Amino acid sequence: MDSSIEDGVQPVGRTPADAEAATVSSSAAEPVGERAAMAPTSLSPSRASDFMQCPLLYRFRVIDRLPEKPSEAATRGTLVHAVLERLFDAPATERTAPRAKALIPGQWDRLRETRPEVTELFADDPDGERLARWLGEAERLVERWFTLEDPSRLEPAERELFVEAELDSGLRLRGIIDRVDVAPTGEVRIVDYKTGKAPRAEYAEGALFQMKFYALVVWRLKRVVPRRLQLVYLGSGDVLTYDPVMADLERVERKLLALWEAIERATESGEWRPRPTKLCGWCDHQAHCPEFGGTPPPYPLPVRAPESDAR
Ligand code: SF4
Repeated sequence: MDSSIEDGVQPVGRTPADAEAATVSSSAAEPVGERAAMAPTSLSPSRASDFMQCPLLYRFRVIDRLPEKPSEAATRGTLVHAVLERLFDAPATERTAPRAKALIPGQWDRLRETRPEVTELFADDPDGERLARWLGEAERLVERWFTLEDPSRLEPAERELFVEAELDSGLRLRGIIDRVDVAPTGEVRIVDYKTGKAPRAEYAEGALFQMKFYALVVWRLKRVVPRRLQLVYLGSGDVLTYDPVMADLERVERKLLALWEAIERATESGEWRPRPTKLCGWCDHQAHCPEFGGTPPPYPLPVRAPESDAR
C-alpha cells in the first residue's frame, strides 16, 4: 500500500503514479503551519517518490507538513482498499463480489468517521448524485478485482501490514504492504492494489520501485527475498508481476541510501529545489511554489552554514 504513516504524513489514498491524486489526510480548513514542523527520520516509498519527483514537494509534505485537500480519486482508493482488506474476514466461500460490494457503505461510513475531512468532497452535492456516481465507480473497481484474483482461493498471511526495518547505515525504511501471501513452501508474495490504470511498459520500472522497496524491507526483516511482487491494477484490469533477485534489492538499497543523503543535505542546507513537471497539476502547493509565483513558508528547521563560509 502506498498510503503510509511515515514521517508524520497520512496519505488518504494512492500516488500520482497511479494516475490519481496523491492526497495527504488533513483538513483543508487547517491553517498552514498549525502542525509542528519536523526533520525527516525515515523513508517510505511514497515520500521517496515525492523527493524524486520534486524536492520542494517533499519539503512541504514531510518538513512543513502543509495540509492537503482530499481528492475523490484518492479517497475512493482508500475505500476500495478497506473493502478488499475486510473481505478476508469472511470465510473463503463467502468472499464473493456481491459480498464485497455490500461492504462499501459500511466502510464509507467508517472512513467518514475516522477522516471527517473526506465529507467535504461531497459538501456541494445536496441531492447525492455525485456521491452515487462515485460509489458506483468504487463498486466497479471492487467487481473488477474478481476478474483478476480469486479471494476464495487466497489466505493472506498479512493484510495492511506495517513494516519497518533499519539498514546498516541507520536509515529506517517503513511502509504499509496491502497483502502478503506465503505459500506452503515458504515463498513470499507481496501484493499491492492500485485503483488507477497500469502504467505503459516504459514506466513499469517506476511502478515497481515501491514493490522493490517493500521487498528490501521484508528481506531485511526476515532474511527472505520475496519470490514475487504483484501489482493489481483495478482501474485497467491488469496485473503486473516481477520476481526479484538479491541484486535488485541491493540496487534499490544503494538508490535509497543516495536518496537519503540528498534529503539530509537539503534538510541541513534548507535548499529544496522545485522540479516542475506535468505532475504539478496534482500538487496542492502551487500557492507556496516559486514555479507558480508563490513563496514557501519560512524554513522551520535550523540551517547549517556551508563549510566554506564557516571557516
Ligand atoms: S507545484 Fe510542482 S514544482 Fe511546485 S512544489 Fe508542487 S510539484 Fe514541486
